[in-house]
Amino acid sequence: MKYPFNKPFLTGKEIEYIVQAVASGKISGDGSFTKLCHRFFEERFGFRKVMLTTSCSDALEMSAILLDFKPGDEVIIPSFTFVSTANAFALRGAKIVFADSGKGDPNIDPELIESLITPATKAIVLVHYAGIACDMDAIMDIASRHKLHVVEDAAHSVDSYYKGKPLGSFGSLAAFSFHETKNVISGEGGMLVINDEQFIKRAEIIREKGTNRSAFFRGEVDKYNWVDIGSSFLPSEIIAAFLYAQLENLDKIQKRRISLWEQYYEGLKGVAEKGFIQLPEIPDYATNNGHMFYVLCRSQQERQELITFMKEADILPTFHYLSLHKSPFFEGKHDGRVLVNSDNYTDKLLRMPLYYELPDEGVKFITGKIKEFYEGRE
Ligand SMILES: *Cc1c(COP(=O)(O)O)cnc(C)c1O
Repeated sequence: MKYPFNKPFLTGKEIEYIVQAVASGKISGDGSFTKLCHRFFEERFGFRKVMLTTSCSDALEMSAILLDFKPGDEVIIPSFTFVSTANAFALRGAKIVFADSGKGDPNIDPELIESLITPATKAIVLVHYAGIACDMDAIMDIASRHKLHVVEDAAHSVDSYYKGKPLGSFGSLAAFSFHETKNVISGEGGMLVINDEQFIKRAEIIREKGTNRSAFFRGEVDKYNWVDIGSSFLPSEIIAAFLYAQLENLDKIQKRRISLWEQYYEGLKGVAEKGFIQLPEIPDYATNNGHMFYVLCRSQQERQELITFMKEADILPTFHYLSLHKSPFFEGKHDGRVLVNSDNYTDKLLRMPLYYELPDEGVKFITGKIKEFYEGRE
């Protein structure tokens, strides 16, 4: 495929840093590269406390444990998201209440949240889709009035902002991903951000298999023991070394991705003005971090025709989430509410190739093909 959907970008020093990590003689977790990554995020974004994990899924699972989710507790989650957002809470036996997306973008519709809150609700989990912020003033206001925790699934959201404040700094907890499809990568990888002080100590324990190993290594206790539930959520130094090389190039990565995004937008304006597709809307309160460029097609069928047409031209666009409330696992558990917008994005959203090494001519070629597809249509 000439234009794959994604191509992991190596900034240059990944291998060098991995060699350094190996040579240091300590390649399990929480060594010097992990500390460098933690400090990078805490200093640059002002996150209260950062802990690398082996994935964003793990960071979400840690969140569900930290919030003490038990069978019967309810959590409000958008249906249009990745499986892990919900699965983390399903693992604790929580009752998941799926919310619809808004009309203007795939983020959770804040106006619907309040009607879904019951005495059993413990948290609102949100996803900043494509790195575009949810309406945080509205959501934080609801959360504080009902004394609910907010968890941000910030998997798409590195270095993106709501009214100038970094995404991942709003919720009690936030989860980021460094999977190879995200802006900044380590193959598989993630991080938990803890903004609410009360969770820091326990997070450290949960991340270290339910032991007080971290405190032991700091010399705070004289032996380490099993003190809580937990799992092995920390990545090795090899992963952290790779990630640190990426973080050193964050600005360069973001700049290129945003430029590609803008080229797509400009290139497709005409097709959108004719009403063939809709382009993403970025609210005034949000920034764009170039994580994803998507369009909305007029129908699922036309989307499929467009995909087929583009594949023949060696381009691989891909659709995205399938509404979780209709998934084989959840369908029978859903309360029957129709989630129109979530289903609409499921059927009509199409993501374009976007990766650091995609050349400008690539975007020109791809947008040209899209224009060609719509020529002669009405
Ligand atoms: C990628 C992604 C995840 C999962 O991330 P992993 O690091 O692969 O576990 C979770 N939520 C969203 C919204 C994602 O895009």
